[in-house]
Amino acid sequence: SSKSNRKKYKSTCSYCGVGCGVEITDLGNGKLQLEGDKEHPSSKGMLCSKGMNLHYTAMDKSDRLLFPEMRFNRNMPLQRVSWDTALDRTAAIFKTFIQKYGPDSVGFYVSGQCLTEEYYVINKLIKGFIGSNNIDTNSRLCMSSAVVGYKLTLGEDSVPVCYDDIELADCFFVTGANPAWCHPIIWRRVEAHKQANPNVKIIVVDPRRTQTASQADLHLQINPGTDITLTNAIGRVMIENQWIDQSFITNNTEGFEAYQTQVFQKTLAESAEICGISIEKIELAAKYIHEAKGFISMWTMGLNQSVIGVNKNLSLIDLHLITGKIGREGNGPFSLTGQPNAMGGREVGGLANMLPAHRDLLNPAHREEVQAFWGGIKISDKAGFSATEMFEALADGRMKAIWVVCTNPLVSMPDVTLVEKALEKAKFVVVQDISNRSDTLKFADVVLPAAAWLEKEGTMTNSERRITYLPKMLDAPGEAKADTEIINLFAQKMGFTEAFNYTSLSEVYDEHCRSTKGTNIDISGLNYEILKEKRSVQWPYPADNQSSKIEPEVFEKLKNEQGTKRLFTDGRFYTYNQKAKIHAVPDENRSESTDENFPLVMTTGRIRDQWHTMTKTGKVNKLNQHIDQPYLEIHPEDALQRNIVDNQIVEVIGRRGKTQVKAKVTTDVKQGLCFMPMHFGKILGSDFGRANNLTNSLYDPRSKEPDFKFTAVEVRAY
Ligand code: SF4
Repeated sequence: SSKSNRKKYKSTCSYCGVGCGVEITDLGNGKLQLEGDKEHPSSKGMLCSKGMNLHYTAMDKSDRLLFPEMRFNRNMPLQRVSWDTALDRTAAIFKTFIQKYGPDSVGFYVSGQCLTEEYYVINKLIKGFIGSNNIDTNSRLCMSSAVVGYKLTLGEDSVPVCYDDIELADCFFVTGANPAWCHPIIWRRVEAHKQANPNVKIIVVDPRRTQTASQADLHLQINPGTDITLTNAIGRVMIENQWIDQSFITNNTEGFEAYQTQVFQKTLAESAEICGISIEKIELAAKYIHEAKGFISMWTMGLNQSVIGVNKNLSLIDLHLITGKIGREGNGPFSLTGQPNAMGGREVGGLANMLPAHRDLLNPAHREEVQAFWGGIKISDKAGFSATEMFEALADGRMKAIWVVCTNPLVSMPDVTLVEKALEKAKFVVVQDISNRSDTLKFADVVLPAAAWLEKEGTMTNSERRITYLPKMLDAPGEAKADTEIINLFAQKMGFTEAFNYTSLSEVYDEHCRSTKGTNIDISGLNYEILKEKRSVQWPYPADNQSSKIEPEVFEKLKNEQGTKRLFTDGRFYTYNQKAKIHAVPDENRSESTDENFPLVMTTGRIRDQWHTMTKTGKVNKLNQHIDQPYLEIHPEDALQRNIVDNQIVEVIGRRGKTQVKAKVTTDVKQGLCFMPMHFGKILGSDFGRANNLTNSLYDPRSKEPDFKFTAVEVRAY
């Protein structure tokens, strides 16, 4: 097409929670061009390698699922059927199970990559109309420990800071995260800020010397699982030196005394010994934090994916509360969201223990509010199965049917052998996806082809509470449909005609916005028109100051801007008495223990150019050039003891399974620790480098987030 006819669209990158803005040009003939959106306030035109190559995944339709498919027996091949046939059968089977075994026999396992509207309708269907709370998401594997951490300290699942705080901070405490690889555009802002202001201090806490750690002023290479011992020790140093904000503690918090008692239980020498670092380094970290006008802590899976993930979050947020370094420019705890729309999913309550607008499923008043709003049946007071529980329930027969949307649990879940058994045992598996590369298809009874990024409209919320509108710019291939449409059609087949009779996506969105009215995350003033005009806004964004909890002056200001940049600027929190809660956190590690058979700790994580289970990034040649196969990082001492040399194929053995992989002998990992990327599943049927053969399904009792970062293993030459 001629240049003037070329259509440009603005959208958001569909990978990580940074949520960078992209601008796509349709060049015709299926060709797309992509660049960073310079006007997007989160990313200002920047994109990382994954985002820069996103249009290739959209142009390459070779792996796309094109038609609904079905089979009556898993030994038979899947056969193409019509949408009506696939959904009629699914509805019939769901109805039978619900009648025979109760509504909790069915469930949805969805994804932090789903759009807010998709999450909303699935949540409404299962909780408000089917009568079960069995919806959980891969966000459970990602942010749920941070969610509980925020709720218990600040009274609400609310990230207090915004990206613009980065340039206002002078000390970054990065822990359990490798943003240089996994949240690159946020990290580029930190790097640029540090370059312009060499006094800015970067502290990185990680048992591995990652790319991020190599840029740190202070790398605290702690022993795995000792994060709380470290943060408590820093708290102790703060108190001993009177580097705390006494007036903030008195006026704006509670719980300090118990905290003080807790952090004084270990001497600094004891803590240093447990963490495997020097006393001086702990003291220096405390000093950097104390001297900073702006102190931002950044964390992600290293804290969250843990059997003590909530406690790790609490003890980190404690450092902000005892120093009063929160709610002020350039200060605050900043969880880096793993997935593009994990936050949007939480906003609509798309998890087993939540209701829309961060309402609490276990609160009877909240249940009644939502029930009245939806006009459906009585919402069950029983929390649904969380991600790991869902697969356990399938394995032991409590659940009969599972509907998997936009996620690939056979690669991403811990202890995938159990997940495989669960899906084998499941009486009915629906897979709704875009790609035939999903490992889960092997167990599917019904396959529903979904529209991909750019082929559907909707919204997402990124790490700084910023909601962005994504327009539809391409038609989906074959008969693939947008996820919201698929769910609405299914709901109608189930007989819930009126409640799911939406004529447009904006109707779904308006309903979601209305449901937030009067809550802490009020966006009742928002709709697609405003989002299309402003491109993005940060919540809250209430319709009027009567309905909102926001102060009138703040409200006026916010209407002129793009939402609320920073929370808690008045020092008042969302708790019942508006005081933040400081927690006394014990530092014991409850992960599985090492022994003489399994003496090493294995941790997993992402690599720079791959995303999750690689169904998208794995298609892009340029991205495979960085690292194209799995590997195991192991310390030279540990390798020597086992006669392992660099590049040799080794076997990694754990209590639940094993895998073979190439060894990478390196001092980047601490002795006693090894590391494997989490991305690799069954490549061509082989288990080579499938890290989740080894991980365990232990989880944090409060967040139910699995313990991916601590698996006892042995490694031997293969
Ligand atoms: Fe996409 Fe995240 Fe990279 Fe931004 S930083 S381009 S959102 S993957």
